[in-house]
Amino acid sequence: MGGVRAWRVERPGPVATGPLTPRDLPTPTPAEDELLVRVLACGVCRTDLHVAEGDLPVRLPGVVPGHEVVGVVERAAGEFREGDRVGIAWLRHTCGACRFCLRGRENLCPSSRYTGWDADGGYAEYAVVPAAYALPLPAGYSDSESAPLLCAGVIGYHALLSAALPPGGRLGVYGFGGSAHLAAQVAMAQGATVHVVTRNPAARALARSLGTASATADKPPEPLDSAIIFAPAGTLVPRALSALDRGGTLALAGIHLTEIPPLDYQAHLFQDRVLRSVTSNTRAQAREFLSLAEKLRLRVSTRDYPLAEADQAVQDLAEGRITGAAVLKP
Ligand SMILES: [Zn+2]
Ligand SMILES: [Zn+2]
Repeated sequence: MGGVRAWRVERPGPVATGPLTPRDLPTPTPAEDELLVRVLACGVCRTDLHVAEGDLPVRLPGVVPGHEVVGVVERAAGEFREGDRVGIAWLRHTCGACRFCLRGRENLCPSSRYTGWDADGGYAEYAVVPAAYALPLPAGYSDSESAPLLCAGVIGYHALLSAALPPGGRLGVYGFGGSAHLAAQVAMAQGATVHVVTRNPAARALARSLGTASATADKPPEPLDSAIIFAPAGTLVPRALSALDRGGTLALAGIHLTEIPPLDYQAHLFQDRVLRSVTSNTRAQAREFLSLAEKLRLRVSTRDYPLAEADQAVQDLAEGRITGAAVLKP
């Protein structure tokens, strides 16, 4: 059988040093409870960049990154049939027995494993996934549009829930990439006023075209009930906290954040302000978001790259040249 074109993280380091290497790998062999999936599209998430650059410690040497995988089932298992379109996301194993799993918070399971970090992901022509962690995809989206829903969309949704936005509230969104542009649309569909803060002029234009109340490089024009930081910049934390109204909540949506400057209790936290992080997501949250996406028919801003140009896509993401989400097409 022919080899499979895939990319591996063989030398984690700055993208400029070329941490991704193209390889012809054998088609992966699924275990009894796993699906074999032919990849149709794979989104490029900022977490892939953190894996490639070594911001996240190596868990599987030479891992194939990519955890926003849209594909078609070639060997069935569980609830899925041959020919089904399925999604493979970040979370791919939890223990089912720890206090977090038993409490419905499997996103906090200490034994959790992740696609494109602990196991090979979707920067490839084929991927395998435990059937119990594969996701049905919403109708009405192309392969490219579906990919970013699987992590960017789901994490944005989890962050939005964590930000505890009151009905009709004022939401600040810091950074406006793949995840933020989807979360902002969900919030607006639920009646929120959304203010976007980003240095990237193209991202501000995208925000305005989606109907946000404001989009600025500076600060929101009114106090916020809730805010979400999507950019991996710790310096935004005191800025976003001081933009919160009394009782407001700030959620941090990234898996990695640069250093947070010292906080001033009066200026940043007093008056019941809340600061919290967002860690992965449960399968239930993923399914809830995907069915919501089918109802809302979100606009997904994507830019396709051939799989052979994955290294370029990751570099463009690192350098802020992508508006919306980059998607690899085998
Ligand atoms: Zn567990
Ligand atoms: Zn991701």
